[in-house]
Amino acid sequence: MTTHNRAEAIIDLGAIKANIKSLMAKSGKPALAVVKADAYGHGLVPVARAAIDGGATWLGVALLEEALTLRANGVKAPIIAWLTPISDDFVAAIANEIDIAIPSREHLQAVIAASHDAKRVARIHLEMDSGMSRGGALLDWNELLADAADAQAAGKISVVGIWSHFARADEPGHPFNFEQRQRFLMGVEAAREKGITTEVIHLSNSAATINDPDSHFDVVRLGIAMYGLSPDVTTMGDSRKLSLKPAMTLRARIHLVKEIPAGSQVGYGGTAITKVDTKLAVIAMGYADGVPRNATSNVGVLIGNKMSPIIGRVSMDQFVVDLGKESQARAGDWAYLIGSEKGDSYTSDTCYTADSWAAACGTINYEIVTRIGPRVARLYIG
Ligand SMILES: *Cc1c(COP(=O)(O)O)cnc(C)c1O
Repeated sequence: MTTHNRAEAIIDLGAIKANIKSLMAKSGKPALAVVKADAYGHGLVPVARAAIDGGATWLGVALLEEALTLRANGVKAPIIAWLTPISDDFVAAIANEIDIAIPSREHLQAVIAASHDAKRVARIHLEMDSGMSRGGALLDWNELLADAADAQAAGKISVVGIWSHFARADEPGHPFNFEQRQRFLMGVEAAREKGITTEVIHLSNSAATINDPDSHFDVVRLGIAMYGLSPDVTTMGDSRKLSLKPAMTLRARIHLVKEIPAGSQVGYGGTAITKVDTKLAVIAMGYADGVPRNATSNVGVLIGNKMSPIIGRVSMDQFVVDLGKESQARAGDWAYLIGSEKGDSYTSDTCYTADSWAAACGTINYEIVTRIGPRVARLYIG
């Protein structure tokens, strides 16, 4: 692969397909592939196509714009968008057959009005707050159901689904998961009593798909796990433990290699000082590209077979690593921030991973991959 890119995220679409297949085989249920936030930084359209190819039946996004981009690129699968402020263009959503999540009576009224303007029946999924206190209807659930039942009877909307979202699915066996499922089932029961029928009800994210078969219902919503990452390495183990293959390899060019004497301060603020004579490499990627500024020397890059830690603060477009005196690394070589040249050895003892970056920055792997910026080229393999 010869390119003139400074920094690249190499996305293994084969890994995404394999992860979906294995998660579907375990759950035995259809999958909704979650491709919000540029497919967790992996690239919206190529990942959506690969997910369908890998067996997913549905796609899920946060924003209407993301759903419209998929349609504009010829993606035909059912898509649900679940973060659509009432100022959104619901007429465009309906015209493009995008399913809309409905968290309130106000949203429902806006979508009914748009249905009228679009001269087409909107497809909606009623969103229930089963305990996260974020999206979804809570105290007004029964009123929302009554409005939806009336609108459906009048042929203004079609209630395709009822759904909710877990707050603590990454804590296997936690009683709150059981409680959320019970509340969800009561909410669905209330809908049935009002005569609302649906194609699907759905509750599980990746963690619940792995941990909680009783919550799979009609379709599982696969996010982080389909990208080959663990929902929570501390409670559930890493990718390898979960038999998932991380889809992203991240690399940047070495801009400069130089020898430096012991006692030299490195980077803004002089926060690090070389202890011995050594060689440093300047890596051509920085916090504007998603390399966290608060990353510590617990992470760095793999060059050849050697892991070289960050030294000093990450800058906007670059950071410095300590190569060690004997390094043969040269300007122009690739430095691997996530994964390795081999593309298959994702254990944190042989290379840096999204998990090691997350641990070194006090965050989660989700934030590491979704923040990789638009200046980083995406290359697709598999
Ligand atoms: C992001 C999201 C998911 C996927 O969550 P993961 O933890 O990445 O599996 C599922 N459902 C909803 C509503 C989401 O917003």
